[in-house]
Amino acid sequence: MPLPPDLPVIDHHCHLSPSGEGVRAAARFRAAGGTHLFLATQNYDPHPPRTLEDYRRQFETTERLAQRVRAETGVIAYVVIAPYPVDLVDGVAALGRQRALELHQEALDLAGAWVREKRAVALGEVGWPHFPVPEEVSEAAVEVFRHALAVARESDCPAVVHSADLDAEGYRRLAAEADQARLPRHRVVKHYARSRFDPAAMSGIVPSYVARRELVREVTADPGPWFLETDFLDDPRRPGAVLDLATVPRRALAIAEATGGSERLWVPFVESVERVYGWRPAPDPARGP
Ligand SMILES: [Zn+2]
Repeated sequence: MPLPPDLPVIDHHCHLSPSGEGVRAAARFRAAGGTHLFLATQNYDPHPPRTLEDYRRQFETTERLAQRVRAETGVIAYVVIAPYPVDLVDGVAALGRQRALELHQEALDLAGAWVREKRAVALGEVGWPHFPVPEEVSEAAVEVFRHALAVARESDCPAVVHSADLDAEGYRRLAAEADQARLPRHRVVKHYARSRFDPAAMSGIVPSYVARRELVREVTADPGPWFLETDFLDDPRRPGAVLDLATVPRRALAIAEATGGSERLWVPFVESVERVYGWRPAPDPARGP
C-alpha cells in the first residue's frame, strides 16, 4: 500500500561523501520513497582534523552536501555536526592530550554556534570510541563528552551519541551524564542502537535503531520516541559495511503492509522528531499536504 503523501520518511543517521556515491545515494533514497535525511558529518580527508580550521572545512563540506542533496534530489537533509570522538585517538597521539582536548572543545563550540545559527540541527556524533583506547584518550573523551552535553543544552538541541553498544546500566550512566549537564534525557539519542530494550530500561535515552528487518519488527509497537537509521557510510572501500541508504523507505513500506496502515510510522518520522528536536519535519514540497 502506498504511504500517505503527508508522511515524511526519514533516515535519522547517515553519512555522504563527496568522494563516494554522494548525491546519487540520496537520489536512490528518494526513488525508494525517502523524504528527509539527518546527514552527519564525517572525516572527508585521509587523516582526522588537527586544527579548528580543519573542522570548519569539514562541517562546510557536510553543509554543501546537504544543500546539493536538497537542490538535486528534493530530499531535505538536516546537518548534524561535531568532532568525531574517535578523532581523539589520532589527536592525542599527534597533538598531545591537552591540545587534542581543547581542539575538540573548540570544535564543539563551533558546532553549537552553527546550531544556534540554524545551520545544523544537532550535535553528533559525540561520545567515546567504541573500541579499547589508551587511558589518556578515554579520559579525554569523557571530558569532551561532558562539554558536548553542555553545548547541546546551551544551543537547545539534541546530542547524538556514538558509543559501543549499551546495556541497561550503560543507558543509566548516560542518563546520569545528561542530568549532570542539565540536558533533558529525551534530547540524548543513542545512535546505532542494535537491539531493543524495554523502553523502561533505557532511562529516558532515545534510541536510533539500525533499520535491520528483525529489529524493526521488534520495535514497531514501541511508544517512542525512537528513530530508524542506516548509518550509511558512503565509503566505496567498505561497500555493505552498513545498511544501504534505500533501507528505511523499504522498511517503512514493510511496516505499513504488516500493520495494515501507516499509523505506526508517525512515531519515528513525526512524533519523535517533534519530541526530541522540538519541531516538525519540514513538509516535502513535492509530496506534502
Ligand atoms: Zn555515523
